[in-house]
Amino acid sequence: MLIFEKSRPGRGACLLPECDVEVFMPEEKYKRESKLPLPEMAEGDLGRHYTELAKKCQGVNDGFYPLGSCTMKYNPRIDEIVANLPGFSEVHPLQPEHTVQGSMEVLKLGEEYLCEITGMDEMTFQPAAGAHGEFAGLLLMKAYHESRGEGEKRTKIIVPDSAHGTNPASAVMAGYSVFTVPSGADGCVDIEKLREAAGEDVAGLMLTNPNTVGLFDKNILKITEIIHGCGGLCYYDGANLNAVMGRVRPGDMGFDVIHLNLHKTFATPHGGGGPGSGPVGCKKLLADFLPSVTVRGEERLTFEKPKHSIGEMKGFYGNFLVVVRALAYIQTLGREGIKEASENAVLNANYMMHGLKDLYTMAYDDICMHEFVMDLSDLKKKTGVAALDIAKGLLDHGIHPPTMYFPLIVPEALMAEPTETEAKETIDRAIAVFRKLYEKASEDPEALHEAPKTAAVARLDEVEAARHPIVKYNHQDI
Ligand SMILES: *Cc1c(COP(=O)(O)O)cnc(C)c1O
Repeated sequence: MLIFEKSRPGRGACLLPECDVEVFMPEEKYKRESKLPLPEMAEGDLGRHYTELAKKCQGVNDGFYPLGSCTMKYNPRIDEIVANLPGFSEVHPLQPEHTVQGSMEVLKLGEEYLCEITGMDEMTFQPAAGAHGEFAGLLLMKAYHESRGEGEKRTKIIVPDSAHGTNPASAVMAGYSVFTVPSGADGCVDIEKLREAAGEDVAGLMLTNPNTVGLFDKNILKITEIIHGCGGLCYYDGANLNAVMGRVRPGDMGFDVIHLNLHKTFATPHGGGGPGSGPVGCKKLLADFLPSVTVRGEERLTFEKPKHSIGEMKGFYGNFLVVVRALAYIQTLGREGIKEASENAVLNANYMMHGLKDLYTMAYDDICMHEFVMDLSDLKKKTGVAALDIAKGLLDHGIHPPTMYFPLIVPEALMAEPTETEAKETIDRAIAVFRKLYEKASEDPEALHEAPKTAAVARLDEVEAARHPIVKYNHQDI
């Protein structure tokens, strides 16, 4: 039942203090014609309503949540507490700079730490998500080529087929044509094919690393060298930084521009529609084109717009409170902690892969980074049980399914990312459950076709849910 259906006129859960300033009445033409249709409910019933909804979902507080490519990791409570401090949460974006120096210090320190972690010279927090950061990064690359009179000539962005799907989409949005280079049998970029594609029409390359099959491209230095050799720029999709932060720096590997996903790596919960943050870092050669920069002056911090700026990517300064969480996360972990987080993410993924690989076929039987991909096509051929059925079966054991049918280059794919905070016992239990489901596929495939039995809903029409989602309640329907 929706909260609107439970609403009864006159009930409420908040008491507003008496107004102690002069009441301002807007002009007649700006007034609403009807009452704002907000649900009216007592505080106790309100609490029950949301607890009931939470119980219907499988979340990171309910159990193991190995959703690969998304990094659904545990985010420490302290970061949430810091972001909720009124000094941060109640500042107004239009406040004069001298009244918000503390918040500007958060932005500046955040930029400095992330530049240090990525090996970049400058950083902007404007983009609101990963894909938004990709778009911003591409606009920087485009502005650079245009400034050198090569804008017309360089029309192509090279994207390996193991890239995240947003990479080619962003390149097209920025007005480029996409040239796909295939991966070799080892899951890494085919170097010979890349060499053939590199020419004077190339604006740059976008590389997801670790890539979508969870591998660190061993030819990464060769890749950036080839692209720079033809006058192109190198873009690093850093959404998977959780696997490498504190260990290697994209800037040292030759990349000119990068985006990060603070809502994957740096302590903002991912999913549910945001807010997110996709900061973009770049080397000096692109700094003149950034949307805006925080400058540390002698007296105080100021916001400035670089000379050849591509312009604003978002209102004000991006999703500020997400940056507060990231800064709190970085400062609580410290230099060693950041490194340890990525080491444990990689260790946990390899441990889990090792515990499964005698039963489940691994798409790439190599040391993985923070996630690994299983190929269930053998199992499906033998038993009729598909990746989807195993994923649904996990729900009956209190485990959230891994990512299914992605990456697209692996058939019947299940992609698991345990993340760094999971204990050995949790992963051992997950391994046992995966193994049990594998056996069940042979013994009783029908039972798996019918899973889950314990969830609030079983098999949903996923196409309908994706194509025609109902995300807004129409109050006229009551
Ligand atoms: C999640 C992800 C993106 C896109 O980030 P959004 O914040 O969802 O726009 C891009 N690249 C990779 C590798 C990702 O995992």
